[in-house]
Amino acid sequence: IKFSDFPLSKKTLKGLLEAQYRMPSEIQKQTIGPALQGKDVLGAAKTGSGKTLAFLIPALECLNRQQWTAHDGLGVLIISPTRELAYQTFEVLRKVGKNHEFSAGLIIGGKDLKHESGRINRTNILVCTPGRLLQHMDETSYFHASNLLMLILDEADRILDMGFADTMNAIVENLPKKRQTLLFSATQTKSVKDLARLSLKDPEYVWV
Ligand code: AMP
Repeated sequence: IKFSDFPLSKKTLKGLLEAQYRMPSEIQKQTIGPALQGKDVLGAAKTGSGKTLAFLIPALECLNRQQWTAHDGLGVLIISPTRELAYQTFEVLRKVGKNHEFSAGLIIGGKDLKHESGRINRTNILVCTPGRLLQHMDETSYFHASNLLMLILDEADRILDMGFADTMNAIVENLPKKRQTLLFSATQTKSVKDLARLSLKDPEYVWV
C-alpha cells in the first residue's frame, strides 16, 4: 500500500513525495482511512511510529476538502506536550503541507503573549502547548475556535503526566462540540481514558 492508494489531494501527495515519504507506516495505514472518513481516532502509538503524519495528513485533507481559506480562521488545533515536540510537528507540517495555501502557526510561549496573539488570528492550523494555549484563551481576546473542524492531541499521556489534566479539560470544554478529534498516546492510563471519554465520540481504536 502506497500513500497514493488513499484518496488524498494532489497537493498532499506532492508534499509527501517531495519530503521523500513513499510508503505509509503501520500507524499511518490504520489511522488515515478512518480519519478521512471523519471518524474520531484513539491511537496507541509511540514516538518513532510515524504518528505525526498519521494526524497531519488527515488534518490537511480535512481543510482541503472544505476548501478552507485564510479568512475561515482556525480549522485544526494540535496540542503537544512540549515545546520541542510542538516545534518538530510544526516543521513536518510546513514541509508536507507546503503546496497548500493554509497558514500554520506555532504557540509555545517564549515570546510575549501579544506578539503571539497577532499570529493566532491569521492561522488555519495551530500547533501549541497546553499551558500557553489556555493562557491565550483566558487572557487575550484573539483565540477564536468557533469554526474548528479538528482537534489533535499528541502524546496525551505525556501531557497528563506533566500535570495538565485540568488545563486539558478546560481547553476541550471551550471548543466546539461538532468537531473531529484524533488522540494519540503511547500508554492507556486511567487519566488518558478519562481525557478520551471527554474529548472523543465513538472512536476507532488503532494499535501498532
Ligand atoms: P514520528 O513517530 O511521527 O515522530 O516519526 C518518526 C520518524 O519516522 C521521523 O523521522 C519521520 O520522518 C519518519 N517517518 C514517518 N513516516 C514515515 C514514512 N511513511 N516513511 C518513512 N519515514 C517516515
